[in-house]
Parts: sequence; C-alpha cells; structure tokens
Amino acid sequence: MMRCPSFRYLAPATLEEAAAILADLGPKAMILGGGTDVVPNLKRRQMTPEALVSLRKIASLRGVTLGADGAATIGPCSTLADLALDKSIASGWPGLSRAISSIASPLIRATATLGGNLCLDTRCNYYNQNHEWRQSISFCMKAPHGTAVTEPGQATCWVAPSSPRCWAVSSTDSAPMLMALGATVTVQSKARGKRDIPMTALYRDDGMDYLKKSPDEIVTSVRVPAAKGAKSTYWKLRRRGSFDFPVMSVAASVKLAKSGEVEDAKVVLGAVASCPLDLQESALLLGKKLTDDSIGEFAEKASAHARPLDNTDFQAAWRRKTARAFLSGALKELRGDGKDTLGVLAQRVLQGASCIG
Ligand SMILES: Cc1cc2nc3c(=O)[nH]c(=O)nc-3n(C[C@H](O)[C@H](O)[C@H](O)COP(=O)(O)OP(=O)(O)OC[C@H]3O[C@@H](n4cnc5c(N)ncnc54)[C@H](O)[C@@H]3O)c2cc1C
Ligand code: SF4
Repeated sequence: MMRCPSFRYLAPATLEEAAAILADLGPKAMILGGGTDVVPNLKRRQMTPEALVSLRKIASLRGVTLGADGAATIGPCSTLADLALDKSIASGWPGLSRAISSIASPLIRATATLGGNLCLDTRCNYYNQNHEWRQSISFCMKAPHGTAVTEPGQATCWVAPSSPRCWAVSSTDSAPMLMALGATVTVQSKARGKRDIPMTALYRDDGMDYLKKSPDEIVTSVRVPAAKGAKSTYWKLRRRGSFDFPVMSVAASVKLAKSGEVEDAKVVLGAVASCPLDLQESALLLGKKLTDDSIGEFAEKASAHARPLDNTDFQAAWRRKTARAFLSGALKELRGDGKDTLGVLAQRVLQGASCIG
C-alpha cells in the first residue's frame, strides 16, 4: 500500500488567513482542494510539501451565484458533483455541465473541486507512476525529486529524449470549456492582492510550469459570462465512456444569428498539449452558416494543432486523426444535428455524456 509522507494539515477559516499562511510558508506549503489529485501525487512522492493548506472551511469559496447580467460566479471549492447537478449551469452553459459531469467518477466528483480541476497537474505515462517505477527509469525532467540527478536540467524526457522541455499533457476537462465560454478567474495572494486572469491567459504550454499564476495565489472565483444565446458543447475522447481522463477533447461555444450565420464562435482543443489550445481558426466560422463545407474547412485547419505525443492513452497518430472528427462533430451538434445523423463515434460520445450527466 502506498502511504502519504507526513505533512501538516492546516484548515484556515478565512481567505486572508489562508493567503497569510501561504505567504509565510512559501514553497513548503501547497493548496488543497478536494485532494483527489494531490493525495495520489503525495503517495507517489511527486510532491512532498511540509504543509497542506485546505480551503474547505472557507464558506465564501463555495456555491454558484447568478448576476443580474446573466453571468455566473462559481466558487472554486464547489464540488464537481454539486456543479454537475446545478440547474442554472445546465440550462445556461450545457457544455460546462457536460464537461464537469465527465470528470472522473461520481465518488471522486463528490470530493473534487472546480479550483483543483483548473490547477490540475499535467499528466504523462512516464510520470503518473509510483516512486519505485520512476526510480527504475532514473526519473525524468518533471520529477527530479529523489533522483541521483544533481542538476534538474540534466534529467531526461523519456517521451522526447532530445527535448529541452516537458510535454506532459493538460488533462483538465473544465478548463477548455471555460476557455471556450470566455470565463475569467480571480486569484488572490498576500503578496499580489486580487487580480483577474482570463482563462485564455491562465496556462502555459509547458508540462512542468503549466500555470501562469504563482503557487501562493488562490483561485477565489470563476466568472462565466452570460451565454446570450450562444450554445455550447463538450466532446471528450477517452477509453471508457464512464470514467477516464481525456486524451483529446473539443470545447465549443457558438452563437448563431436568426438567419443562421455564425455571430460568435470559440473552439478549444483539450488534452493534446501541455495547455488547452484556444483555436484562432474559430474566426474562420464568423459570418458563415454551419454547412458541411464550412465545418469541414474549419476542422481540417484547426485539427493541425492537435499534435499529441505518445505519452497518454491511445496511439498519438489516431488521437490526431480523431481531433478532426471531433471538431466537426461538435459543430454539427451545435447546428442541431441529432444523434441519428452524427455518426457512430459521435453517438458514443453523446451516449457516454448522457450516461454520466
Ligand atoms: C481515478 C481518477 C480519475 C480522474 N479523472 C479525471 C478526469 O476525467 N478529468 C479531469 O479533469 N480530472 C480527473 N481526475 C483528476 C481530479 O480528480 C480532478 O481534476 C479534480 O477536479 C481535482 O480537484 P481537487 O479539488 O481534488 O484538487 P486537489 O487534488 O485538491 O488539487 C489539485 C491542484 O489544484 C491546486 N488547487 C486546488 N484548489 C485550488 C484553488 N482554489 N486555488 C489554487 N490552487 C488550487 C492544488 O494545489 C493542486 O495543485 C481524476 C482523478 C482520479 C484519481
Ligand atoms: S513529457 Fe517527458 S519530462 Fe514530461 S513527464 Fe513525460 S517523460 Fe517526464
């Protein structure tokens, strides 16, 4: 049985107290949401903080509030289970509801939080292994802890041995969808106070240093702007329809004019790089109707950004090909195609979503 290393558990009652503890302890402390990612990582010795600062007792960090402008403000300590059942999210932003409902299993969603999902560590087949397994391959660049390597930069990346960087994969389901919906997070720390970061500016394409916020900055809220008639959807590729991390995903939000032309579109690819990819090709759809031709042109160009490496489930080349099918399937769903016309792959995705939703 893998056991956690010893650590101090701190559960401050206010945000200010939590920020002060994080400022005092610096890199010795780590924020704890539901712990569904942190705890396995501790057991595998991927991180060994001296203290975990739990946000659980801070009531102001939970719940969903709808503003007069139709925007939703979501507390980052809301559990994924509560958010998956939230009727205002399901009716205003169905893509977000589907993305959240697809995360892990019911038991894990009952504990896991939205803040933890947004800050989820990147994943790689050579990294998400126990300490002894990683020791047997002399660890890698992302986990120099406990290795014989004296300089972290000397460690090898087993996925791309000549690469100077880590290619571990962003595997969060909510982040691509919140990006497509134009959401913004607010973060707070003692040193920098409060600041807003658009979701599109929260991540860096670097498997080791994937967040642009600093470790002492607590995500204190997530603001999702009013949908204003835009429709949204989330398609997730994974081995088991009921329970698995994404290995490629498409998050899309599209607003159609009454005449059928696209007024606004934002499509994001998840789980094919170290951060969600905000596709600039979304602009190609503006002013056009969602015809097979316009969708096909968009999907072909946008899928070129899906260049996953061989470090998660399925063959990388197949994931690349599937990206094109998922991009067009998601847009066809948003233009109103039913399950009967979406094809076998699409039907499996939608059935998976409805099983867990
Ligand atoms: C078997 C299994 C299957 C899983 N499947 C999926 C999946 O399909 N999709 C998916 O996306 N994830 C999946 N996960 C990962 C994880 O359960 C979820 O991402 C979950 O939402 C993490 O939330 P948490 O509250 O448990 O985070 P924690 O483990 O508590 O924290 C994760 C990270 O976020 C930081 N953090 C937490 N809250 C905040 C905050 N408010 N401000 C700043 N930093 C914060 C922590 O310091 C840590 O770095 C799975 C996990 C397991 C064990
Ligand atoms: S991509 Fe390379 S450096 Fe990063 S976790 Fe995987 S093997 Fe390690």
